[in-house]
Amino acid sequence: MMDFTDFPVIDHHCHVLDPAKTKLDPESLAREFHHGMADIPKPGVKKAKLWDATDELRYHFPNMGVVQTMICQLSKVLDCPPELEAVASERNRRTSESFAAYAQLLYKDAGINTTVVDSDLPKNDPLFNLMPGKILRLFQMGPPIKKLLSQSGSYQELLRDYQETLDRSVKQDGFIGVKAHLAEEVGFGADLVSEAEAKAIFPAAKAGDSGAYKKLYVAVFTATLLQCQELRVPVHLHSGFTGGLWEGPISNADPFLLAPLLRRPEFLKTKIVLLHAGYPWTKQAGQLAHAFPHVWVDMSQISPWGSLRIVECYRDVMAWAPLSKITIGSGGHGTPEIAWLSAKTAKIALGEVLGDAVRLGLMAPKHAEKAGRMILHDNAARMYGLK
Ligand SMILES: [Zn+2]
Repeated sequence: MMDFTDFPVIDHHCHVLDPAKTKLDPESLAREFHHGMADIPKPGVKKAKLWDATDELRYHFPNMGVVQTMICQLSKVLDCPPELEAVASERNRRTSESFAAYAQLLYKDAGINTTVVDSDLPKNDPLFNLMPGKILRLFQMGPPIKKLLSQSGSYQELLRDYQETLDRSVKQDGFIGVKAHLAEEVGFGADLVSEAEAKAIFPAAKAGDSGAYKKLYVAVFTATLLQCQELRVPVHLHSGFTGGLWEGPISNADPFLLAPLLRRPEFLKTKIVLLHAGYPWTKQAGQLAHAFPHVWVDMSQISPWGSLRIVECYRDVMAWAPLSKITIGSGGHGTPEIAWLSAKTAKIALGEVLGDAVRLGLMAPKHAEKAGRMILHDNAARMYGLK
C-alpha cells in the first residue's frame, strides 16, 4: 500500500456547508449520509429528504457502511472512542465553539486546499466563509432555464437570455464550468432536439408540460455544450445514481447511453466531466474517458459513499481512463465531514490500487506516486489553470 496521507487535494465536486448543521445529534449526523427517501411524507412537502422517518428506517441510518467509515476515521481525528455517540458529542463540542474552525480542522487533516462548489451563489456570499481554502463555482443550468421559461415569450428569447447569462457568469463573475442534470431531468440517450422543434414545443413547456420541458432542456443543453467550447469551460454531468428523486427512469444514467451524443463531431471540443463516476456503471465511465478525447471522470459520491467498495471502484475507472483524466470529489453538502471523508477514503483507495500496481510490477513506483498526486490534485488544477 502506498501512503498519500499528506498529499494535497482538490475536492472537484461539492456543495455549500450549512450553518444549520452546526449541532447534530448522533442520529442526524448519520442521517446526513442518507441519500434517499424518508418514509413518512409530509403533506405539501415535495422533497423527500424533508419527510420524517419511521423507527424502522431510523434503525438503518447508523448501519450504513459510509457511516461506519465516518465513525472509524473521525474517532482518530477527534481522539475519542469509535462510537457514533462519542464522535457526535466531540464534534458538537468543537462546532459549538466554531463551526468554521471545525471545518478547518477536517480540511487540514484531509489536505483539501481547493473546492469546486456546485452553487450559483455570488462570490462573496457569507456561506462560503465556512468552507476552508479556495472556492471555485459552477454555473447551474437548471435555475436560469426555469426562471427564463416563465419570463420569455419564445424559445429564441429564452436561449438568447440564457446564453447572455452564461457568458457573463463565466467572463465577469468567474464561474469555472457548467453543471447540468441531464440524467435526472431527461435521461441519457434522449434524442437531440432541433431548433425548430424547440420553438414548436416552447408554449407547451411554458404551460408546464413535462415532456415538452424535457425537450427544451435537451435543446438548451446542446446549445450549452457548444457555448462552453467558446468559453473554454467544462460541462459537469451527474452520471449514475445521484441520490435524487428522479423524473425519468433511473436506469437511463448509464454513461454508455451518452456515446451517440459524445461521438458527434460538433461536441468533441467540449470538455465533459462525468460526476459520480457513473456508479454503478464505473467501468463504463472509465472506458468513455479512454475512448473519447473530451471525457473526464470525477470520483465524487463513490468517495465517500461507496467506502466499503472504494478500492474496486477506483480500480474500475483507473483500469481504462487515462490517469490524467480522473479527479476526486465528494458530492458533500451541509456538513464538512462528507468532503473530509471523501478525501480520506480516496487516499485509501489510491494507496491500495497504486500500491498493488507497484507490487505487481505494473507501474514504476515514481509513476504510481505521480498518478496519485495527479488524481488527488494536479488533474483538476490543470483543468482550471491553477498553480
Ligand atoms: Zn453531485
